[in-house]
Amino acid sequence: MFQATLESVASFDGVGAHSGKLCSVSISPAAKNAGIVFSNGEHTVEARFDNVSETTLCTALSLGDGADISTIEHLSAALYGLGITNALIETKDPEIPILDGSALPFVQKFLSVGIKKQSSRMKMLKVLVPIKVQEGEKWISLSPANSFSINIKCDFTSKGLETRETSFDFSENDFTKEIALARTFGFFSDAEFLRKNNLAKGASLDNCVVFDDVGRPINKEGLRLPNEPVRHKILDVIGDLSLTRCNIVGRFDGFCPSHRINNRLLHALFEKDTNYEITQ
Ligand SMILES: [Zn+2]
Repeated sequence: MFQATLESVASFDGVGAHSGKLCSVSISPAAKNAGIVFSNGEHTVEARFDNVSETTLCTALSLGDGADISTIEHLSAALYGLGITNALIETKDPEIPILDGSALPFVQKFLSVGIKKQSSRMKMLKVLVPIKVQEGEKWISLSPANSFSINIKCDFTSKGLETRETSFDFSENDFTKEIALARTFGFFSDAEFLRKNNLAKGASLDNCVVFDDVGRPINKEGLRLPNEPVRHKILDVIGDLSLTRCNIVGRFDGFCPSHRINNRLLHALFEKDTNYEITQ
């Protein structure tokens, strides 16, 4: 498989989920082997797991000097999902716009500007030994396999939703049809907590599926596809695992994953050279 970049610039404007402020971002083509790089005009940072500065409700990268870029995970998932390995992401804002809460607007725009294959091969990361991280009842693992697959189970019973499980065998085509469109979700019972703690100020029914106390979506349009919340967790995992800067060859399993535990798993994976092999 070969590296790829965009044919031309793709730009997005919209509210930031956490700040509630209008944010803009532009994604430009980059040379082969450049990787995914974020810039705020003063500082640049590689989209890499060990540059992650914050994992509360989203994944944020540190640009140095205290500046962060938050909510990179859906954009990162869209890039990984379409095989775009090289791009320069420029924003002067502290957050990537949430758009409709999914990766679909990014995917659609990238497909419309065009994706250009480059002459170098992608880096492949093969998981060599099982790695598991646990936090209370939550756990996630990566194990050796011949392709990239994700299986996630989520327990939402305390929120009125049944326990749900979804598996996904990664392919670019299925990513667009089954995962990219799954939106961010939340629970009406948490709204007061978020408001009091000054969190998710930009969240609305335009960018979030909100479930009531008995697990029904209060959004008029309902769900986009069955198991949309678990599919969104898969989207978040793809975005977070893209910070390996490699294509993953391994199986991800998880019970109630979060951005925090996803990042801990990557630190555990890269702790020992014998845990993985990178080929190009
Ligand atoms: Zn998400």
